[in-house]
Amino acid sequence: MEQNGISKEDISLKAGFFGAEPWTESMRKEIEQRLGLKAYDIYGLSEVIGPGVAYECECQHGLHVNEDHFYLEIINPETGEPVPDGVEGEIVFTCMTKEALPLIRYRTRDVGMRIPGECECGRSFVRMVKPAGRTDDMLIIRGVNVFPSQIESVLVDMDGIAPFFQMIVEREGNLDKLTVLVELNEDAFTDEVRKLEAISKRVTDAIHSVLGISAKVKLVEPKSIERFEGKAKRVIDKRTQVNF
Ligand SMILES: [Zn+2]
Repeated sequence: MEQNGISKEDISLKAGFFGAEPWTESMRKEIEQRLGLKAYDIYGLSEVIGPGVAYECECQHGLHVNEDHFYLEIINPETGEPVPDGVEGEIVFTCMTKEALPLIRYRTRDVGMRIPGECECGRSFVRMVKPAGRTDDMLIIRGVNVFPSQIESVLVDMDGIAPFFQMIVEREGNLDKLTVLVELNEDAFTDEVRKLEAISKRVTDAIHSVLGISAKVKLVEPKSIERFEGKAKRVIDKRTQVNF
């Protein structure tokens, strides 16, 4: 709109529903200011029904769950036991009215919380906070589901590369940026810029074809990525994220 010289006064939108990916309050403010509308959050899962499982009211303080169709529980992901209202855990849904493919106590892997108390809008449906992350190690980068194991699968087949890498996810403005540090093996380690560029391009292209998103590849010296005993720390997520 800005590039085409259209101002927010030229459009008549009053409200917008935004979903599919977690978004921050600062992004909400920016959307509202720059488009001149109220930006509401909506939540759903394709396994359950798609958009419409939960939505914000005019108070914009949590998402009301459509409880006549979907029963919400928040559980401790390790024990499976329900947690009290106001405590974070994994979002679980049971479909009350869905036919053919009803889901019972379906674990979404999304991290959420029931908000205690009643909403000022007068609706009595329970509210949940917007999901802030996943209980497993899946990352959502620019709306795409990314697993560290996918990067691993790319590198493992590649010449000149050691099986050590680190993913750094950052947010620049409102866009996610993925940088992958990739360790060269001793044989491939060289000062020759052209050779390094060729390796870098090969890795970049392979990551793009597997993930469907582009990543910045940074080659690093052999043995420079930290080694871990047990579970490796493959991901440094500098965006806001809930960790379990
Ligand atoms: Zn409300």
